[in-house]
Amino acid sequence: LISRLGKLDTLSGNLCRDSVPIARVKGVGWAEELVVRKKESHCHGRVAGERRYIHRGLLVVLVAWLFPLYPPRLAAEISAMSIAEELVAVGPRSTGSAAHAQALQRVREALAPLTLAEVRVVGGASEEPLATFEAVLPGRGGGEILLTAHLDTVAHSPGALDDASGCAVAIAALHDLARTPLSHSVRLLLFDGEELGLQGSRSWLNELDAERRADILAVINLEMVGARGARGRRPVVVPLPAQGPRGGQRRPPGWLVHAVLRGLDTVGWPAAVADRRHSIASQLLLRVGYPARGADSQPFVRVRIPAIVLTDLSLWEDKGAGHSAADGVERLDPARLERWTTATAAIVRRLDALAGRPRGEEEYLVLAGRVWLRRDIYWVGFALWVLLLLVERRRWQGSVAGARRRVSLFRFSFLAAALVAPSLAMVLLYPMGALTLLPRGGLRWQRGKLAVGLLPIAGLLLVCLLALLRGTLAWWSPPVVSLTLIGVALATGGALLLRAGPAAE
Ligand SMILES: [Zn+2]
Repeated sequence: LISRLGKLDTLSGNLCRDSVPIARVKGVGWAEELVVRKKESHCHGRVAGERRYIHRGLLVVLVAWLFPLYPPRLAAEISAMSIAEELVAVGPRSTGSAAHAQALQRVREALAPLTLAEVRVVGGASEEPLATFEAVLPGRGGGEILLTAHLDTVAHSPGALDDASGCAVAIAALHDLARTPLSHSVRLLLFDGEELGLQGSRSWLNELDAERRADILAVINLEMVGARGARGRRPVVVPLPAQGPRGGQRRPPGWLVHAVLRGLDTVGWPAAVADRRHSIASQLLLRVGYPARGADSQPFVRVRIPAIVLTDLSLWEDKGAGHSAADGVERLDPARLERWTTATAAIVRRLDALAGRPRGEEEYLVLAGRVWLRRDIYWVGFALWVLLLLVERRRWQGSVAGARRRVSLFRFSFLAAALVAPSLAMVLLYPMGALTLLPRGGLRWQRGKLAVGLLPIAGLLLVCLLALLRGTLAWWSPPVVSLTLIGVALATGGALLLRAGPAAE
């Protein structure tokens, strides 16, 4: 064997004493070194004894592997449901109450197994002294991702869904995140005074200098998650806008919405944006106004720190239900809280992969699970307009000048409407443009096309009206007026086109 292997390195001949190897052959196959043992017959007893030890050792390893004395401790042992139950058990946690202080203690206990930095309670001036909980899971590099919820409740509510659920999911997600190294630090913030008008988040942010603000990559705000009865429903991502210092609207950037949606995809949980059923209308409504109730993400959005709300409630669902004595643990679904925990951790990991904030684009619309930026939407509109131009030119060749003028008026009103459209309400013009491309027919067919084409804008105006009447939207802003103008412009243009139909020819 040795001669066949070639290259003999050493050949030691100290036979029965201690040196078991009699030859070392270098460079054979995968092994660095092949040890050729001497023939068993020389020291039979000794080799057999060694073998026995090896066998016993292997057996012990096998048994230990199959039946571990200490089962591996997994972060999943801490469940969001158990944390939520502990928080609810202390009673209504209104700002400044003894129960709120107790809840802070429960939070500390739930986080005790983790190695965290900057664990503290931050005060703040308000009608009642504020106590916002803060802790940091340190990352390897710079930058922070904020994981936020609010610990306080209104005076008489146990606040299970609003917002013990969010706090519990944030804490449980932190346990999950602590198991793999991240490059960003994750800062857990359980705000106080949310129910007093976002006071905790406002005052916390006020203490931050420009440098630390720039350090924040993104803010995730968990509000009312893990609702019982929501089983089977999609989670909702709400890009809640905020009013900028000079009145204009500011919105969370498109990249954040994209990252959150893709993060949720990785755990097989595709989300709805703004609302489960009326996503597009709700997104457009958010571009013209603000829901009556705010969230802790807004003070951040106001100063252009990317922040977004994750929830189980749709935008227009009655949030008042969260402010009642009936908001107990029975409102929570343990399995859904678990799912939210996994999802939140996945979103943070997705964000963690970013080197820094991408360029912020506030004009976007989420359609079919994809974030469409302003550019995409305007291109489609422009293409439609050019098509309209070509088709109409051919259609009206040789017709009377009056009719032709009316048609160009319609094209003009379409273009004007597209230009005044509040941000991306332009999408609403697509059906009208596309219908106009269809072949002309009788008067009834023309009227039908006009009615269908105006439907999206009319629908949005109706939703606006209902929201205003119900008080779920606390606004009346110039963009609503321009929406109305678009409707009127298109209706007039359409009507003119109708009159210029074959009958007029
Ligand atoms: Zn809340």
